[in-house]
Amino acid sequence: MAKIWVVAEAQDQKLKKVSLEMITLARQLGDVEALLIGDGVAAIAPELGNYGVSKVIVADHADLQSYTAAKYARVLSELIQRDQPEIVLIANTATGRDVAPRVAQRVGAGQISDIIDYADGQFIRPIYAGKAFQRVTAVAHPLIVTVRPNVFAAAEAVGGTAAVETAAVSLAADDLRVLVRDVVRQISTRPELTEAEIIVSGGRGMKGAENFRILEALADVLGAAVGASRAAVDAGWRPHQDQVGQTGKTVSPTLYIAAGISGAIQHLAGMSGSKVIVAINKDPEANIFKVADYGIVGDLFEVVPLLTEEFKRV
Ligand code: FAD
Repeated sequence: MAKIWVVAEAQDQKLKKVSLEMITLARQLGDVEALLIGDGVAAIAPELGNYGVSKVIVADHADLQSYTAAKYARVLSELIQRDQPEIVLIANTATGRDVAPRVAQRVGAGQISDIIDYADGQFIRPIYAGKAFQRVTAVAHPLIVTVRPNVFAAAEAVGGTAAVETAAVSLAADDLRVLVRDVVRQISTRPELTEAEIIVSGGRGMKGAENFRILEALADVLGAAVGASRAAVDAGWRPHQDQVGQTGKTVSPTLYIAAGISGAIQHLAGMSGSKVIVAINKDPEANIFKVADYGIVGDLFEVVPLLTEEFKRV
């Protein structure tokens, strides 16, 4: 059986949802082993056994407390060279996108990026900003595959235990040239954009930063994250980390509500993988309606508060 590695992501001693999503895919591909890299991550290794992972390799070291590409690429590539897994799944997150190609280059592997499905032995990935889908067959191994978050269902717990191996970590001086001095966390009660099941996004139609209050009220009722188009970010109404699209974040929530967003190709590139898209726009010809499952032609300043009131009732 092919040996499939899942590079699990964790934060604050908790597995990120995308780690469980990658396990779902990995189970279709072969025998699943997981890697945990960080400081203090050994504590969560046993949990992975619950999800059908046969072995967890833990690289736990104080120097790995903060992510840098050099450190993580060193650890990952040495372990891959040592154990020769056939396929290594890495989340297509900011850190995953950063480290995956470095690892692929070091171990001489091919890479398939940002996959959203696997069928008939082929990995499927969107291309041309989501306008077409490419089917890719691997012809050589090892293979690095980055997996888009929120696309595969999170693995269900199946019970069981995994063997846990502690890997020796030896970082060279070269790997430590970049030092992370401080990590500034935004305190928010809302889910992180790329992990959110529901996203409420606003664009230039919001007409000002203060008007995002109505989207936030809707987001609070739905337990949603708040996103924005680039126009709203460029206007200074929202921080860049909220931007959805080609030069922002790629999201695939179950529900994406776009208010006052025209649906430019660069915005669609970041959200067209959402399962259900609801668009609110006063222009019936707006491009966003071409990808929307439900379209509301109307003034968002009337529609959004009405939706909030209705959802409060549910
Ligand atoms: P607009 O296109 O101005 O649309 C505003 C919409 O609001 C209109 O459809 C209007 O009918 C509607 N509206 C106005 N008032 C109301 C109201 N009261 N009620 C209801 N509807 C109303 N864009 C991104 O979003 N993300 C990216 O990552 C991104 N990357 C880019 C990268 C490059 C290289 C380039 C060139 C562009 C990029 N863009 C990106 C910009 C993109 O091309 C669009 O300019 C941008 O998405 C437009 O944002 P918008 O839809 O909010 O604004």
